[in-house]
Amino acid sequence: MCRLCDGYFRDAHTIVECMHTFCKSCLLREFHTRQNKATCPHCKMALAANPLNSIIADHTMQEVVDKIFPEMAERDDAAKVAFYDERGIALQEQHRARDAEGLGGAAGGGAGAQQAAPPKRKKKSTDEDEAISFKLAPDTGDGTPPGMVLQTLDKPFLRTSGKLKVVHLKKYLMKKLALPSIGGIEILCKSETLGPELSLIFISKSRWLDPEHDLELNYRGCEEQT
Ligand SMILES: [Zn+2]
Ligand SMILES: [Zn+2]
Repeated sequence: MCRLCDGYFRDAHTIVECMHTFCKSCLLREFHTRQNKATCPHCKMALAANPLNSIIADHTMQEVVDKIFPEMAERDDAAKVAFYDERGIALQEQHRARDAEGLGGAAGGGAGAQQAAPPKRKKKSTDEDEAISFKLAPDTGDGTPPGMVLQTLDKPFLRTSGKLKVVHLKKYLMKKLALPSIGGIEILCKSETLGPELSLIFISKSRWLDPEHDLELNYRGCEEQT
């Protein structure tokens, strides 16, 4: 989350000197109000005379946010298109490029991922668009050898679109826990391993079966799978 707006990152940018990350617009506003005495808003590290030279787009961070909260990215894209349309300005290619990059893409890559078509994320609301709250905690049950127990997340309670799949959670965990790949992560519901294509809403309705309580999912390490 961005420490300047207390929201999830929008166009996440990182200050290279101290590696602190903020929304691009929050940073630019901050720099603007400080004129030529720009510092990192968090650690106060002094930045170069032109602080724009000190920031880089953090695609990996933004992709995680976009994947976990896809509806925010959709709203953002729609607002961006409307903003430029109203003013009769052609939307820059780089603004659209993000749409073509998936979480599965190479981190920070996507230089070639430009497209001229308008954003394609608009979809009719369905059952699966329901937001779902769930807990994501390490599995410590009998079936998990001590060596396979993974770290606890800083924020184990999550809320996201119900159509998010197990594979997305694995990618989220991989980044959050700095694991080398998703093949070494297993996600379980009630001690039962979940396939990568199952959505949260499906798991909730077919495995969890307890509408009174938030869904709880567990994760652990496993032998590398392909
Ligand atoms: Zn912000
Ligand atoms: Zn800093």
